[in-house]
Amino acid sequence: MKVARFYAPGDIRLEQAPEPDPGPGELKLRVRNCSTCGTDLKIARHGHHHIDPPRVLGHEIAGEVVALGPGTTGFAPGDRVQVIAAIPCGRCAVCDRGRPSVCPNQESMGYHYDGGFAEFTVVPEKVLRVGGVHRIPDGVGFDEASVAEPLACVRNGQDLARVGSGDVVVVIGAGPVGCLHARLARARGAAQVHLVELNPDRLARAAELVAPDAAIDASTTDPVAEVLRLTGQGGADVVITAAASGQAQQQALRMAARSGRISFFGGLPKDSPIIECDANLVHYRELTIVGANGSAPVDNQRALQLIASGEVPVRDLITHRLGLDGVLDALEAVRTGAAIKVTIEQ
Ligand SMILES: [Zn+2]
Ligand SMILES: [Zn+2]
Repeated sequence: MKVARFYAPGDIRLEQAPEPDPGPGELKLRVRNCSTCGTDLKIARHGHHHIDPPRVLGHEIAGEVVALGPGTTGFAPGDRVQVIAAIPCGRCAVCDRGRPSVCPNQESMGYHYDGGFAEFTVVPEKVLRVGGVHRIPDGVGFDEASVAEPLACVRNGQDLARVGSGDVVVVIGAGPVGCLHARLARARGAAQVHLVELNPDRLARAAELVAPDAAIDASTTDPVAEVLRLTGQGGADVVITAAASGQAQQQALRMAARSGRISFFGGLPKDSPIIECDANLVHYRELTIVGANGSAPVDNQRALQLIASGEVPVRDLITHRLGLDGVLDALEAVRTGAAIKVTIEQ
């Protein structure tokens, strides 16, 4: 079969590999869609300390069951399924307390295990054990189902930031994740959703799709002053940073309303994770700052439901569709910001 394997930063090879055989408790899938995200690009350029090459990348996986390993139950050939990316252990104290997204033993598809940039992939037993394989609802395509994984992460982030009815929500960063945040915030009843982005082309493309109340071009406008102006100086109830930017995080703190919630959804580059935070803003305004680290298996299931019900449409966010041979072009489209969501389909 054909695979796209990571060997080293800057060295991803399209090559032939033997089809994998499912072991005990495992499932073999024919991959139909595996979408790309900024993390794939980061790995392609810089590698990752959890990846021991060569490794098939790709963690936004939807496909069709073609074979079951010995003793595997609950699925049958022909089932259309979506697979989680972040794999909690399901056995530690953190998992026991219902917080699998921060399981200290978390592993990931496409990092610790071969992922979805391949004609076939094997779902590890560990994934099935934690309920990490979900049937794709009728009417939902493989392409849409592959976007359930990032939507699951967005869902987890908005749960933690308690996004709800009547909120004024600001999303900083208009990539695919920012677009999903804008759509989900609307679905959760936000009164207003504003989108902030430094790249004017990307902002225009995203704004056309998700129709924010205000599209704020941070390359020409001070986003803090603009959000304060738009909210009668009150600030935003929720600010979500969907960008790897410390400056965005600092702006988020300053544009939040009293009692506001700030989600540091996007992580920062590991060599510059320190920001300046006016602790008195947090103290006197009773701000809540939350993080977000992937998603729980159940978030993936709920994300599929959000897509199936039409509450969060995702198909129009897929702007680029390429075959497995196009993995490098797909990553390039992610890098330049020419695309919103890029999917590899077969
Ligand atoms: Zn991803
Ligand atoms: Zn655990």
